[in-house]
Amino acid sequence: MELAEQLPKPKQELTPLPFTFVRTNDKQIAEFIENRMPLISFTSKGLKPKTDEEIVAVVKQQKVGEQWYTQDYWREKGQPSEQIEIRLDGHAITLYNFRPEIQLTDIHVEQLKESLGTFTARFPNAMEKLRWILIADMPNSNPWGDVDTFPLSGTRSKSLKTLRLYPHAFASESHRIQTVSNLEGTIAHEIAHFIHEDFREEWSESFQWGSVSNCPNIWEPVPRPDGKKYYYRNKDTGEITYSGQFPLQPDACITEYGKRTWYEDIVESMVAYLYDPDRLRRVSPKKFEILARHDVNHPEPTVIAHRVPKDEVALPEIKPQTVFYYIKEPSQAPNLQATG
Ligand SMILES: [Zn+2]
Repeated sequence: MELAEQLPKPKQELTPLPFTFVRTNDKQIAEFIENRMPLISFTSKGLKPKTDEEIVAVVKQQKVGEQWYTQDYWREKGQPSEQIEIRLDGHAITLYNFRPEIQLTDIHVEQLKESLGTFTARFPNAMEKLRWILIADMPNSNPWGDVDTFPLSGTRSKSLKTLRLYPHAFASESHRIQTVSNLEGTIAHEIAHFIHEDFREEWSESFQWGSVSNCPNIWEPVPRPDGKKYYYRNKDTGEITYSGQFPLQPDACITEYGKRTWYEDIVESMVAYLYDPDRLRRVSPKKFEILARHDVNHPEPTVIAHRVPKDEVALPEIKPQTVFYYIKEPSQAPNLQATG
Protein backbone atom coordinates (compact mmCIF):
# COMPACT_ATOMS: atom_id res chain seq x y z
CA MET A 1 0.00 0.00 0.00
CA GLU A 2 1.08 3.51 -0.72
CA LEU A 3 -0.06 5.43 2.34
CA ALA A 4 -0.47 9.14 2.65
CA GLU A 5 0.46 10.11 6.17
CA GLN A 6 -2.60 11.07 8.07
CA LEU A 7 -1.93 14.00 10.29
CA PRO A 8 -3.89 13.87 13.52
CA LYS A 9 -3.98 16.86 15.86
CA PRO A 10 -0.67 17.25 17.69
CA LYS A 11 -0.86 15.61 21.12
CA GLN A 12 1.69 17.93 22.56
CA GLU A 13 3.22 21.17 21.37
CA LEU A 14 6.00 20.42 18.94
CA THR A 15 8.91 22.79 18.55
CA PRO A 16 8.28 24.89 15.44
CA LEU A 17 10.25 23.79 12.38
CA PRO A 18 13.12 26.16 11.54
CA PHE A 19 11.62 27.15 8.20
CA THR A 20 10.97 30.75 7.17
CA PHE A 21 8.59 31.17 4.27
CA VAL A 22 9.33 34.14 2.02
CA ARG A 23 7.55 35.19 -1.14
CA THR A 24 9.84 35.92 -4.08
CA ASN A 25 9.39 37.41 -7.53
CA ASP A 26 12.30 35.36 -8.82
CA LYS A 27 11.01 32.04 -10.14
CA GLN A 28 14.56 30.69 -10.32
CA ILE A 29 15.06 30.61 -6.56
CA ALA A 30 11.50 29.57 -5.75
CA GLU A 31 11.17 26.12 -4.22
CA PHE A 32 7.42 26.22 -4.72
CA ILE A 33 5.31 27.85 -7.40
CA GLU A 34 1.65 28.31 -6.60
CA ASN A 35 -1.17 29.51 -8.81
CA ARG A 36 -3.26 32.38 -7.47
CA MET A 37 -6.23 31.00 -9.34
CA PRO A 38 -7.31 27.44 -8.59
CA LEU A 39 -7.21 25.24 -11.67
CA ILE A 40 -10.49 23.58 -10.82
CA SER A 41 -13.59 25.30 -9.54
CA PHE A 42 -15.35 23.61 -6.62
CA THR A 43 -18.30 25.95 -6.63
CA SER A 44 -20.85 26.85 -9.22
CA LYS A 45 -19.80 30.48 -8.87
CA GLY A 46 -16.57 29.83 -10.71
CA LEU A 47 -12.93 30.39 -9.88
CA LYS A 48 -12.07 32.42 -6.82
CA PRO A 49 -8.49 33.66 -6.32
CA LYS A 50 -6.68 32.19 -3.31
CA THR A 51 -5.64 34.56 -0.54
CA ASP A 52 -1.97 34.97 0.41
CA GLU A 53 -2.68 33.10 3.64
CA GLU A 54 -4.21 30.18 1.80
CA ILE A 55 -1.22 30.00 -0.51
CA VAL A 56 1.30 30.10 2.36
CA ALA A 57 -0.65 27.34 4.10
CA VAL A 58 -0.42 25.15 0.99
CA VAL A 59 3.31 25.83 0.61
CA LYS A 60 3.95 25.00 4.29
CA GLN A 61 2.02 21.79 4.02
CA GLN A 62 4.04 20.73 0.99
CA LYS A 63 7.35 21.62 2.61
CA VAL A 64 6.54 19.78 5.83
CA GLY A 65 5.32 16.76 3.87
CA GLU A 66 8.54 16.39 1.88
CA GLN A 67 10.34 14.39 4.55
CA TRP A 68 8.89 11.96 7.04
CA TYR A 69 10.89 13.52 9.88
CA THR A 70 9.38 16.97 9.36
CA GLN A 71 5.84 15.62 9.61
CA ASP A 72 3.91 15.98 12.88
CA TYR A 73 2.90 12.31 12.67
CA TRP A 74 6.52 11.23 13.15
CA ARG A 75 7.74 14.13 15.29
CA GLU A 76 5.11 13.28 17.87
CA LYS A 77 6.66 9.86 18.31
CA GLY A 78 9.72 11.46 19.89
CA GLN A 79 13.04 9.70 20.14
CA PRO A 80 13.44 6.29 18.48
CA SER A 81 14.71 3.49 20.70
CA GLU A 82 17.16 2.12 18.13
CA GLN A 83 19.11 3.36 15.10
CA ILE A 84 21.02 1.21 12.67
CA GLU A 85 23.18 2.65 9.90
CA ILE A 86 23.36 0.35 6.91
CA ARG A 87 25.79 0.69 4.01
CA LEU A 88 25.47 -1.27 0.78
CA ASP A 89 28.55 -0.53 -1.28
CA GLY A 90 28.21 3.14 -0.43
CA HIS A 91 24.39 3.40 -0.53
CA ALA A 92 23.14 4.52 2.88
CA ILE A 93 19.97 3.32 4.56
CA THR A 94 19.04 4.35 8.09
CA LEU A 95 16.73 2.31 10.28
CA TYR A 96 14.86 3.87 13.20
CA ASN A 97 12.83 1.85 15.65
CA PHE A 98 9.84 3.71 17.09
CA ARG A 99 8.43 0.64 18.84
CA PRO A 100 10.26 0.26 22.16
CA GLU A 101 8.71 -3.17 22.80
CA ILE A 102 10.51 -4.50 19.71
CA GLN A 103 14.21 -5.04 20.15
CA LEU A 104 16.15 -5.95 17.07
CA THR A 105 18.08 -9.13 17.75
CA ASP A 106 21.31 -10.01 15.96
CA ILE A 107 19.27 -12.48 13.90
CA HIS A 108 16.95 -9.66 12.78
CA VAL A 109 19.95 -7.55 11.78
CA GLU A 110 21.42 -10.47 9.81
CA GLN A 111 18.07 -11.02 8.05
CA LEU A 112 17.90 -7.32 7.27
CA LYS A 113 21.39 -7.36 5.76
CA GLU A 114 20.64 -10.53 3.80
CA SER A 115 17.43 -9.21 2.28
CA LEU A 116 18.88 -5.82 1.33
CA GLY A 117 22.01 -7.45 -0.09
CA THR A 118 20.01 -9.96 -2.14
CA PHE A 119 17.75 -7.29 -3.60
CA THR A 120 20.68 -5.00 -4.42
CA ALA A 121 22.42 -7.78 -6.31
CA ARG A 122 19.35 -8.63 -8.39
CA PHE A 123 17.27 -5.46 -8.84
CA PRO A 124 19.54 -2.56 -7.80
CA ASN A 125 17.29 0.12 -9.30
CA ALA A 126 14.75 -0.59 -6.55
CA MET A 127 17.30 -0.01 -3.82
CA GLU A 128 18.05 3.50 -5.05
CA LYS A 129 14.51 4.39 -4.04
CA LEU A 130 14.97 3.35 -0.43
CA ARG A 131 16.59 5.63 2.15
CA TRP A 132 14.75 4.98 5.42
CA ILE A 133 13.40 1.95 7.25
CA LEU A 134 11.00 2.85 10.05
CA ILE A 135 9.67 0.41 12.59
CA ALA A 136 6.39 1.88 13.71
CA ASP A 137 2.86 1.14 14.76
CA MET A 138 0.10 0.36 12.32
CA PRO A 139 -1.49 3.22 10.48
CA ASN A 140 -5.04 4.17 11.47
CA SER A 141 -6.63 1.40 9.52
CA ASN A 142 -5.58 -1.66 7.62
CA PRO A 143 -6.07 -0.76 3.97
CA TRP A 144 -7.43 -4.24 3.27
CA GLY A 145 -9.71 -4.06 6.30
CA ASP A 146 -8.87 -7.58 7.35
CA VAL A 147 -6.16 -7.88 9.98
CA ASP A 148 -6.81 -11.54 10.76
CA THR A 149 -6.51 -13.02 7.30
CA PHE A 150 -3.77 -10.71 6.14
CA PRO A 151 -1.97 -9.10 9.06
CA LEU A 152 -0.12 -6.10 7.74
CA SER A 153 3.66 -6.43 8.03
CA GLY A 154 4.79 -3.40 6.10
CA THR A 155 4.08 -0.55 3.74
CA ARG A 156 6.26 1.83 1.83
CA SER A 157 6.12 5.37 0.48
CA LYS A 158 7.81 6.21 -2.78
CA SER A 159 7.83 9.96 -2.24
CA LEU A 160 9.32 9.67 1.27
CA LYS A 161 11.71 6.85 0.30
CA THR A 162 10.56 4.93 3.36
CA LEU A 163 9.83 1.32 4.13
CA ARG A 164 7.71 0.89 7.23
CA LEU A 165 7.77 -2.29 9.23
CA TYR A 166 4.98 -3.16 11.66
CA PRO A 167 5.28 -5.49 14.64
CA HIS A 168 3.90 -8.41 12.64
CA ALA A 169 6.97 -8.27 10.38
CA PHE A 170 8.92 -9.66 13.35
CA ALA A 171 6.58 -12.58 13.96
CA SER A 172 8.41 -15.88 14.08
CA GLU A 173 6.23 -17.46 11.40
CA SER A 174 7.44 -17.68 7.83
CA HIS A 175 6.40 -15.35 5.05
CA ARG A 176 3.60 -16.21 2.60
CA ILE A 177 6.48 -17.47 0.46
CA GLN A 178 7.28 -20.13 2.99
CA THR A 179 10.96 -20.64 2.32
CA VAL A 180 11.84 -17.26 3.84
CA SER A 181 11.37 -15.54 7.20
CA ASN A 182 8.52 -13.05 7.49
CA LEU A 183 10.99 -10.20 8.01
CA GLU A 184 13.02 -10.93 4.87
CA GLY A 185 9.92 -11.66 2.81
CA THR A 186 8.26 -8.45 3.97
CA ILE A 187 11.31 -6.34 3.16
CA ALA A 188 11.59 -7.90 -0.31
CA HIS A 189 7.83 -7.47 -0.89
CA GLU A 190 7.83 -3.78 0.01
CA ILE A 191 11.02 -2.94 -1.91
CA ALA A 192 9.60 -4.74 -4.95
CA HIS A 193 6.67 -2.30 -4.84
CA PHE A 194 9.12 0.50 -5.66
CA ILE A 195 9.54 -1.01 -9.14
CA HIS A 196 6.34 -2.99 -9.78
CA GLU A 197 5.31 -0.43 -12.40
CA ASP A 198 8.33 -1.45 -14.53
CA PHE A 199 6.76 -4.89 -15.05
CA ARG A 200 3.21 -3.79 -15.68
CA GLU A 201 3.28 -3.90 -19.45
CA GLU A 202 4.97 -7.27 -19.80
CA TRP A 203 2.69 -8.70 -17.12
CA SER A 204 -0.47 -7.45 -18.77
CA GLU A 205 0.47 -9.09 -22.06
CA SER A 206 -0.04 -12.47 -20.41
CA PHE A 207 -2.02 -11.84 -17.22
CA GLN A 208 -5.16 -9.82 -16.74
CA TRP A 209 -7.46 -8.89 -13.90
CA GLY A 210 -11.22 -8.48 -14.06
CA SER A 211 -13.33 -6.07 -12.09
CA VAL A 212 -16.10 -7.46 -9.89
CA SER A 213 -18.35 -4.55 -10.78
CA ASN A 214 -18.47 -5.87 -14.34
CA CYS A 215 -19.58 -9.30 -13.17
CA PRO A 216 -22.48 -8.83 -10.72
CA ASN A 217 -23.81 -12.29 -11.62
CA ILE A 218 -20.68 -13.93 -10.28
CA TRP A 219 -19.48 -11.64 -7.48
CA GLU A 220 -21.77 -10.57 -4.66
CA PRO A 221 -20.93 -7.84 -2.14
CA VAL A 222 -20.60 -8.92 1.49
CA PRO A 223 -20.42 -6.25 4.22
CA ARG A 224 -17.23 -6.13 6.27
CA PRO A 225 -17.41 -6.41 10.06
CA ASP A 226 -17.05 -2.64 10.40
CA GLY A 227 -20.15 -2.28 8.21
CA LYS A 228 -18.56 0.52 6.22
CA LYS A 229 -17.10 -1.36 3.30
CA TYR A 230 -17.69 -4.47 1.29
CA TYR A 231 -15.68 -7.32 0.05
CA TYR A 232 -16.88 -9.60 -2.72
CA ARG A 233 -17.62 -13.32 -2.77
CA ASN A 234 -17.72 -15.52 -5.82
CA LYS A 235 -21.18 -17.12 -5.81
CA ASP A 236 -19.89 -20.31 -7.43
CA THR A 237 -16.59 -20.94 -5.73
CA GLY A 238 -16.90 -19.01 -2.46
CA GLU A 239 -13.64 -17.25 -3.30
CA ILE A 240 -13.23 -13.78 -1.82
CA THR A 241 -11.73 -10.57 -3.16
CA TYR A 242 -11.04 -7.50 -1.08
CA SER A 243 -9.78 -5.25 -3.84
CA GLY A 244 -12.65 -5.50 -6.29
CA GLN A 245 -10.35 -7.23 -8.76
CA PHE A 246 -9.88 -10.88 -9.56
CA PRO A 247 -7.27 -12.64 -11.69
CA LEU A 248 -8.38 -14.17 -14.97
CA GLN A 249 -5.50 -16.67 -14.62
CA PRO A 250 -5.71 -17.47 -10.87
CA ASP A 251 -3.65 -20.65 -11.14
CA ALA A 252 -0.66 -18.58 -12.22
CA CYS A 253 -0.65 -16.64 -8.91
CA ILE A 254 2.00 -17.78 -6.46
CA THR A 255 -0.01 -16.79 -3.35
CA GLU A 256 -3.58 -15.89 -2.41
CA TYR A 257 -2.32 -12.40 -1.62
CA GLY A 258 -1.07 -12.08 -5.19
CA LYS A 259 -4.61 -12.56 -6.46
CA ARG A 260 -5.72 -9.19 -5.10
CA THR A 261 -4.28 -6.92 -7.80
CA TRP A 262 -1.80 -7.05 -10.67
CA TYR A 263 0.83 -5.21 -8.61
CA GLU A 264 0.52 -7.46 -5.56
CA ASP A 265 0.92 -10.37 -7.95
CA ILE A 266 4.12 -8.86 -9.34
CA VAL A 267 5.70 -8.30 -5.94
CA GLU A 268 4.62 -11.67 -4.53
CA SER A 269 6.09 -13.30 -7.63
CA MET A 270 9.31 -11.37 -7.08
CA VAL A 271 9.62 -12.61 -3.49
CA ALA A 272 9.12 -16.14 -4.83
CA TYR A 273 11.61 -15.48 -7.61
CA LEU A 274 14.24 -14.57 -5.03
CA TYR A 275 13.47 -17.16 -2.37
CA ASP A 276 11.58 -20.04 -4.00
CA PRO A 277 12.43 -19.82 -7.70
CA ASP A 278 11.67 -23.45 -8.50
CA ARG A 279 8.14 -23.12 -7.25
CA LEU A 280 7.58 -19.93 -9.25
CA ARG A 281 8.93 -21.66 -12.34
CA ARG A 282 6.43 -24.48 -11.80
CA VAL A 283 3.46 -22.22 -11.03
CA SER A 284 4.15 -19.74 -13.83
CA PRO A 285 7.13 -20.16 -16.15
CA LYS A 286 6.10 -16.94 -17.86
CA LYS A 287 6.33 -14.85 -14.67
CA PHE A 288 9.66 -16.42 -13.86
CA GLU A 289 10.91 -15.56 -17.32
CA ILE A 290 9.77 -11.91 -17.13
CA LEU A 291 11.51 -11.42 -13.78
CA ALA A 292 14.65 -13.22 -14.94
CA ARG A 293 14.90 -10.86 -17.87
CA HIS A 294 15.12 -7.88 -15.47
CA ASP A 295 17.44 -9.62 -13.01
CA VAL A 296 20.96 -8.12 -13.35
CA ASN A 297 22.40 -10.89 -11.14
CA HIS A 298 25.38 -8.94 -9.85
CA PRO A 299 27.58 -10.27 -7.06
CA GLU A 300 26.20 -9.55 -3.59
CA PRO A 301 27.40 -6.18 -2.29
CA THR A 302 29.22 -5.77 0.99
CA VAL A 303 26.56 -4.93 3.55
CA ILE A 304 27.58 -3.24 6.78
CA ALA A 305 25.14 -2.62 9.61
CA HIS A 306 26.25 -0.45 12.51
CA ARG A 307 24.15 -0.26 15.65
CA VAL A 308 24.31 3.30 16.93
CA PRO A 309 24.90 3.31 20.71
CA LYS A 310 21.73 4.15 22.66
CA ASP A 311 22.92 7.56 23.87
CA GLU A 312 23.95 8.58 20.35
CA VAL A 313 20.65 7.74 18.62
CA ALA A 314 19.60 10.88 16.78
CA LEU A 315 16.95 11.83 14.25
CA PRO A 316 18.03 13.58 11.05
CA GLU A 317 18.95 17.18 11.69
CA ILE A 318 16.46 19.71 10.37
CA LYS A 319 18.54 22.69 9.32
CA PRO A 320 17.13 26.23 9.39
CA GLN A 321 16.03 27.22 5.92
CA THR A 322 14.44 30.10 4.08
CA VAL A 323 11.83 28.63 1.79
CA PHE A 324 11.07 30.86 -1.19
CA TYR A 325 7.77 30.58 -2.98
CA TYR A 326 6.47 32.28 -6.10
CA ILE A 327 2.86 33.16 -6.76
CA LYS A 328 1.73 32.95 -10.35
CA GLU A 329 -0.79 35.76 -10.72
CA PRO A 330 -3.64 35.33 -13.25
CA SER A 331 -2.25 37.93 -15.65
CA GLN A 332 0.97 35.91 -15.89
CA ALA A 333 -0.77 32.68 -16.77
CA PRO A 334 -3.79 33.57 -18.87
CA ASN A 335 -4.12 30.16 -20.48
CA LEU A 336 -3.31 28.22 -17.31
CA GLN A 337 -0.74 26.11 -19.08
CA ALA A 338 1.56 24.07 -16.91
CA THR A 339 5.17 25.20 -17.02
CA GLY A 340 8.43 23.52 -16.24
ZN1 LIG B 1 1.98 -5.25 -1.25
